[in-house]
Amino acid sequence: MSEQTPRVAVVTGAARGIGAATAVRLAADGYAVAVVDLEESAGKDTVEKITAAGGKAIAVGADVSNADQVAAAFERIAAELGGPTILVNNAGVLRDNLLFKMSESDWDTVLDVHLKGAFLMSRAAQKYMVDAGYGRIVNLSSSSALGNRGQANYSAAKAGMQGFTKTLAKELGKFGITANAVAPGFIATDMTAATAKRVGMDFEDFKKAAATAIPVQRVGTPEDIAHTVSFLVSEGAGFVSGQVVYVAGGPLD
Ligand code: NAP
Repeated sequence: MSEQTPRVAVVTGAARGIGAATAVRLAADGYAVAVVDLEESAGKDTVEKITAAGGKAIAVGADVSNADQVAAAFERIAAELGGPTILVNNAGVLRDNLLFKMSESDWDTVLDVHLKGAFLMSRAAQKYMVDAGYGRIVNLSSSSALGNRGQANYSAAKAGMQGFTKTLAKELGKFGITANAVAPGFIATDMTAATAKRVGMDFEDFKKAAATAIPVQRVGTPEDIAHTVSFLVSEGAGFVSGQVVYVAGGPLD
């Protein structure tokens, strides 16, 4: 990456949770960050946190599963910050249910946001990365990719993210672009709080119960994931590609 290459990162689903922590971390690492979320207004807090710490960021509203909105988002990001060379596909939703109760729309929504969203965002981003001869793509998978009761849609999407990542690594490597997946275990965010609510448990009790089954005896934080992403998008990680890094406080069965 030359001195002239803009250090511009795009993080999806960056209004809260893992995406927000990742946007803040990448800004601290020196990147100008596009904070992408469904509504532009939702990204305001993350942008304020970044600018208050002396970093540069803009909030961009886009549904990652909508090709036109993705194209418009990249046009704006390139015009306001420069062509992006870092992409973190983090936006996600849950529509958990046992298979016999899972609706077609539960299936479509989850596959659309995670998998189609990562496809549309990566397809749009690769043009800027190929032009720069440099790029880093990180896709959020999950420990649920190994299978998880009540998550036929989500586990399929998160396993799909791993195959997608490996293919991007093979196709884009010759352009100086790496692609890796981060597969978090239990991370304390609104998403896991919603799961606690769905199963009728207090979130604190839910976290305590989860921690007992994790070798390091705690649940993860959004910053744990942001730290891993920071490494994978760094220039020094140029020989790490097509990998799935489980960040779960221990090995998974
Ligand atoms: P979160 O707190 O629910 O945040 C997800 C963000 O994505 C929200 O701001 C959400 O916006 C946004 N989003 C949803 N659909 C979108 C779309 N179509 N376009 C743009 N943005 C969209 O989730 P999280 O826990 O931080 O999880 C982040 C990623 O890590 C997800 O891919 C998740 O599957 C993965 N992950 C999480 C865990 C965990 O334990 N938390 C574990 C493994 C993997 P709204 O608020 O408007 O919906």
